[in-house]
Amino acid sequence: MSHSPSHVKDGQLVPSTPSSPAETLRGNALSPNQVTEGASPLDTDWAPLRDVGIEVVTRDDAAYAQARKNYNTRVARYPAAIAFCASSEHVSVTYHFARQRQLAFRVRGGRHSYEELSLMDDGLIIDVSRLKQFKLLERDGEFHALVGAGMRQEDIYQRVGALGFVFPAGTAPTVGVSGVAQGGGIGMMSRAFGLTLDNIVSIQLVKPSGELAVVSESSQGLDGELFWALRGGGGGNFGIVTAYTFRLHRVPELTVFEMRWRYEQFIEVMRYWQKWAPETDRNLTCQLTFETRGTMDAGSNPMEVHAEGLYLGSPEALQHLLEPWARAVKPLEGYPRVERKSFCETTEFFASFDGPPHPYKTTGAFAYESLPEEALKTLVRFLDTAPSRQCSLWMQSFGGAFADKAPGDTAFFHRKARFILEFVGAWKTGSLVGAQCARWSQGLRDALLPHTHGTYVNFVDLSLSTPGTDKAHQKFLGMYYGDNVQRLRDIKTRVDPDNVFDFEQSIPLLTKAPEPAR
Ligand SMILES: Cc1cc2nc3c(=O)[nH]c(=O)nc-3n(C[C@H](O)[C@H](O)[C@H](O)COP(=O)(O)OP(=O)(O)OC[C@H]3O[C@@H](n4cnc5c(N)ncnc54)[C@H](O)[C@@H]3O)c2cc1C
Repeated sequence: MSHSPSHVKDGQLVPSTPSSPAETLRGNALSPNQVTEGASPLDTDWAPLRDVGIEVVTRDDAAYAQARKNYNTRVARYPAAIAFCASSEHVSVTYHFARQRQLAFRVRGGRHSYEELSLMDDGLIIDVSRLKQFKLLERDGEFHALVGAGMRQEDIYQRVGALGFVFPAGTAPTVGVSGVAQGGGIGMMSRAFGLTLDNIVSIQLVKPSGELAVVSESSQGLDGELFWALRGGGGGNFGIVTAYTFRLHRVPELTVFEMRWRYEQFIEVMRYWQKWAPETDRNLTCQLTFETRGTMDAGSNPMEVHAEGLYLGSPEALQHLLEPWARAVKPLEGYPRVERKSFCETTEFFASFDGPPHPYKTTGAFAYESLPEEALKTLVRFLDTAPSRQCSLWMQSFGGAFADKAPGDTAFFHRKARFILEFVGAWKTGSLVGAQCARWSQGLRDALLPHTHGTYVNFVDLSLSTPGTDKAHQKFLGMYYGDNVQRLRDIKTRVDPDNVFDFEQSIPLLTKAPEPAR
């Protein structure tokens, strides 16, 4: 059977025409009244999906343990079945199958949701990780990549790197493009080329109505609104993405740098970095990592402050940019180190955040202004008292191309942020300090609230929800989406009126306006 999900016409993704036997299952786009009452996912007969070539893994299968597992081992969820779709047609068929039987489902891409929102107990997981097509397209002198929603960041880096292009996305190789691109895509080229989502040309998806469609920069009306919402609204809200086309870039020369300081220099490093990094040459994006003491771990920990960055230019020009910082806050002997690298080598250099799956409770915040002294002291206090040395604090500079767009240009709101902070509450598998680490990261987030604005939807955080409260009044909405909440809710109401794509922190429908009195 052909697994071609779409074809490319005039450099654009075009959904393929339906073909049997899947067509029999899929039928036409569903309307709510076509949904029939049915069995729960636990006693569903999956044969109709298997008959059209979709691998469905259930609890009885030897493959289940691996098929179920996501990256954050803090959260264990046990779905009834995982359907591994290998084409957009498979996705469409599986979605219709679920709708016809009213099965609860979640969509999964690269398995890296911080709260495992791509998994659910007892439901069906529609997994897109086998959608791995890649095609280079040329259109009006620009180069684009058509990328299946199952690609991981490293898959794309390797493909575009081999063709002499670069692709702006995050640092961890195994994170899925599916989730990254719908929420943002913050990485080491954000100041030069914006977020991953700023480079999206078109998106192919199965809409909540069941229609397989393509929305793009040229879409009008509700499709235009959907294209806006899919760039920053976060995964799982507006349908199932099956492919993206991204704008690619060429960069003649790339250089990385690395600097280290003693932990005691923390405040000096921060004072300089937070003023300089968001303002410097936009070809330089820079991250800072602060290690913690780990009060409940055995042994001593030589704590250091690290900075790494990527510069789109020569080692000499980068040395020149770093010189004033290194003069103002003297780094450890031998730093800064700078090195010219190929694009793929730079992605390997920044890959350190992607260890094996482990437990963590991580959250974040955006800083719109430099943090005042009082906030820096709060950071030191938390770094000194982190329960495990797996806990850390990470930041990355914005400004440059990240800020070229206004907060309402896409659904990604926080364009005015100068940098992002991530409070990594991680611990070793089997360690008894998990609850303390989770409290540590949330406590740090809360302590900085007077000095920060909202957080990143891709650092999804269920502690920003209040169980039993109407979603429309919960903190997470404003924190992720700022002033874009209303437009997102309006689009959600029109695109998904039955709220089929409903999960713990999905965007709520607008509440109905009261009927006019008769
Ligand atoms: C180790 C690690 C490093 C990270 N580094 C970065 C980084 O450098 N930059 C950055 O910006 N972010 C980073 N993140 C955050 C990352 O962007 C999010 O966790 C992202 O949501 C992961 O996407 P995924 O497809 O891998 O995850 P999944 O768990 O598969 O999905 C995440 C969400 O998207 C939904 N979804 C998945 N696929 C689809 C689809 N095809 N259609 C519709 N909805 C879908 C899911 O239902 C879920 O709600 C990192 C995360 C981790 C764990």
